[in-house]
Amino acid sequence: MNKYDIDIYTVKSMPAYNTRYNDINRHNPRSKSKKSNLTGYFVFIIVLFVLAIGATGLTIFLLESEPKTLLINRTYASVEKMQSKMSDDQMGVGGAYLPESKTTPLSTLDYYIKRGDSIHSISRRFGIDEATIIKLNDIAIPSKIVRGQKILIPNQNGIQEEVTRRNTLDKIAKKYDMDKDELLRVNNLISERDADKIFIPGMKYDGVSKQLLLGEYFTRPIRGGRFTSMFGYRIDPFTKKKSCHTGVDIAQKMGTKVYAAAPGKVIFTGTGNDYGNFIRVQHTSGYVSYYAHLSKIIAKKGDWVSTGTLIGLVGSTGRSTGPHLHYEIRKDNVRINPMTVTVW
Ligand SMILES: [Zn+2]
Repeated sequence: MNKYDIDIYTVKSMPAYNTRYNDINRHNPRSKSKKSNLTGYFVFIIVLFVLAIGATGLTIFLLESEPKTLLINRTYASVEKMQSKMSDDQMGVGGAYLPESKTTPLSTLDYYIKRGDSIHSISRRFGIDEATIIKLNDIAIPSKIVRGQKILIPNQNGIQEEVTRRNTLDKIAKKYDMDKDELLRVNNLISERDADKIFIPGMKYDGVSKQLLLGEYFTRPIRGGRFTSMFGYRIDPFTKKKSCHTGVDIAQKMGTKVYAAAPGKVIFTGTGNDYGNFIRVQHTSGYVSYYAHLSKIIAKKGDWVSTGTLIGLVGSTGRSTGPHLHYEIRKDNVRINPMTVTVW
């Protein structure tokens, strides 16, 4: 092939090019052929221009990409080499450090309780576990949050433990398989001496702990004593016939303190034929607890109580053969075995 062949080909192709435009012009008499030709050339030039830029870009990319990678590799290699010569102390100098952990430090935002809020709705809004919020804020009665009350919303889920002489930071770190310094860092603490409460990120409360925090689980309402009658069918001490015992009986000295078994509101104090002097406490999730045969009622109707609030004293009023506490739990008005929902 010589240069004439190329010329011939170009010349030959030109009429065909024009013919196509003429055809269009015939169908559309209002359009001007001169303008069309100009537009065609203009588009052609733009296409060439774009192709030229693309080719230049590709060339630059191909030329540049390899040396850049090599440069980065070399930089990392030299940094590593430099670090290997440094002691641990030197590496922290100048604020430069190697990030070893991905755990975000604990931070909180202030939230003011609004009308209609519940711990549940707040939990859903912020995507933070109810138990995490309750524990972090030491909320003793989760169902009794009031409008305007400030609570802290943490930026992450986790559990909180009190640091005591018995429950040391070392023990807590070991328990959750975490580094002590890491725990201090997450809690924004400089020294172990500053730690009275410690937040363990990413951990969840077990089922019972969570329910205890929510007030859906109970703790023993009395110290000491012994069980004299459990829940269920038994021979009635009065009629000597088989009948259902609606709670558990704990024999204990007259006047022993009786405590609320979970947070809630006192909805009844008074006397019944069988229960004698008794108290009813309304809890969350449809639970109601009963404390019967009391010698003295201390709580008043309408009181909010938290777990461990003193509410009365052991007695033998009502249908009773001796000083004892009759402890009963109802869920949605159905009597249940208190021992299945109580930590004793
Ligand atoms: Zn009883």
